[in-house]
Amino acid sequence: MAPLQTDVLVIGGGATGAGVAWDCALRGFDTILAERRDLGEGTSGRFHGLLHSGGRYAVKDPDAARECIEENAILRRIAADCIEDTGGLFVTTPDDDPAYGDQFLAGCAHTGVPGEEIDVAEALRREPRLNPRIRRAFTVPDAGIDAWKTVWALVGAAATRGARVLTYHRVVHVLRDGDRVVGARLHDERGGADVDVEARFVLNASGAWAGQIAGMAGIEGVEIIPGKGIMIAMNHRLVNTVINRCTMPADGDILVPIRTVSVIGTTDIRVKEPDEPEVTQDEVAQMLDDGERLVPGFRDARALRVWAGVRPLFQDAKAGGETRDVTRAHTMLDHRARDGLEGFLTITGGKLTTLRLMAKDVVDAMCAQLGEDRPCRTEEVVLPGSEDGEAYHLGERLAAKERHLLDDQLVCECELIPRGRLEETMRARETTNLDDIRRSLRLGMGPCQGGFCIYRATGILHGVERIDAREANASLRDFLQERWKGVWPILYGDQLRQARLDDWIFQGLLDVEHLPS
Ligand SMILES: Cc1cc2nc3c(=O)[nH]c(=O)nc-3n(C[C@H](O)[C@H](O)[C@H](O)COP(=O)(O)OP(=O)(O)OC[C@H]3O[C@@H](n4cnc5c(N)ncnc54)[C@H](O)[C@@H]3O)c2cc1C
Repeated sequence: MAPLQTDVLVIGGGATGAGVAWDCALRGFDTILAERRDLGEGTSGRFHGLLHSGGRYAVKDPDAARECIEENAILRRIAADCIEDTGGLFVTTPDDDPAYGDQFLAGCAHTGVPGEEIDVAEALRREPRLNPRIRRAFTVPDAGIDAWKTVWALVGAAATRGARVLTYHRVVHVLRDGDRVVGARLHDERGGADVDVEARFVLNASGAWAGQIAGMAGIEGVEIIPGKGIMIAMNHRLVNTVINRCTMPADGDILVPIRTVSVIGTTDIRVKEPDEPEVTQDEVAQMLDDGERLVPGFRDARALRVWAGVRPLFQDAKAGGETRDVTRAHTMLDHRARDGLEGFLTITGGKLTTLRLMAKDVVDAMCAQLGEDRPCRTEEVVLPGSEDGEAYHLGERLAAKERHLLDDQLVCECELIPRGRLEETMRARETTNLDDIRRSLRLGMGPCQGGFCIYRATGILHGVERIDAREANASLRDFLQERWKGVWPILYGDQLRQARLDDWIFQGLLDVEHLPS
């Protein structure tokens, strides 16, 4: 295939890569984004869902706190439709030192995070399921953010300015001409062909995989240590506000209400490999105990699903020995200064909340190296879908359904997805992968984990995409396999009953294991 030509090739279709592609496109660069899987399938689609106010870092890391509160305000303005304004509470549980609350308030004042102490009685009035033994409570502007919606909004905006998005295209080789990076070879994971992209500049935004990509460019010593964190989605909104423990950041200290569920997290364990991080029973037990501290009876609630994401912790092996620099803030690697290599920059680490700032930093650095004066405008340009400045709220889908009760068949009852919307999304996504559709619509993400909707959706996919029965069967089986990975480590109580029922439907009635494929 003839090589594709572009100004900038962005590697990685997570929040950072999507932000970088949008920033480049907005500054008028011809841009290609390459992602080896679907958009938001890396850490961005496996995070905790919190738009940080900065409160979490107010004492321990004031710079991070400042960045978070500034970016929090900007994202609320430019990506309102991706955010649910839940607000946040920091609470002192009986296991926490009440004196930390004073340090917390001082840290908030120092970093510009609007933190305010409220009466415990008022906190309990707002959140009746909260531990009645909490001793102090503080409000902060935390919020929920939908990572997939954010990534799609950024990439959609970039596409309106001409950016090309190549999902399921894996970078297998970074192309060099002497001391200059001049593009990359991509392998089309679906079609099977290789295609070269020739670019004036390559931006490596591949998160926990950034070291692998740097290695492909012949750069040594970019060690990204994957820091694994697990999260468990509990049935229903046990709380409607983001609840943080008012203590130094620790494991299992945040409960985030997201859409129809609430998510407890998270841990931080260094692992060898960023792909397919495992969840252990011990981690699950620890998370449920941590949830119990915030909401008594937590363990009796139904756990729907568990998953793990990996934080990219950058370690500069070039620094050597004891002076190795391990940082959790975002890291930009200038490979011209560091490795004598032109045309290549890496941006990794950070938080989803700071994606815009990360993109700005790396695109500013690229413009400086190209000697082009193209100022960043992502702070002011509102993303498509957010023009009215309205944050999304729980109940939107129900309200829409109730307006047209008889118009459309409901395919996923848990997440209220009507058939028309599902068909429209299948056409737009041009995919036969039901997991891609799940990320777009939350299909099969409720209590039955696809038990009642996914065979219906498979039939609809078969019709819409005009695929044959074998391909449809394979898609159904892949979806069930993927869901099972997130269910088996938390099988107890009602979810165990649900899993048995799903098993009877799929193995007993449909015998999916033996369908032709
Ligand atoms: C457990 C956990 C909880 C978190 N919670 C929060 C939170 O509540 N709030 C918050 O603000 N932040 C949170 N974070 C941090 C946040 O999730 C990450 O900082 C952010 O998602 C990183 O985005 P990214 O685009 O840099 O990486 P990713 O989303 O991982 O994107 C990198 C992409 O590169 C792709 N890629 C890799 N190799 C190749 C290749 N060879 N070719 C093409 N593409 C490739 C991957 O498939 C991936 O999609 C959390 C992180 C973790 C681990």
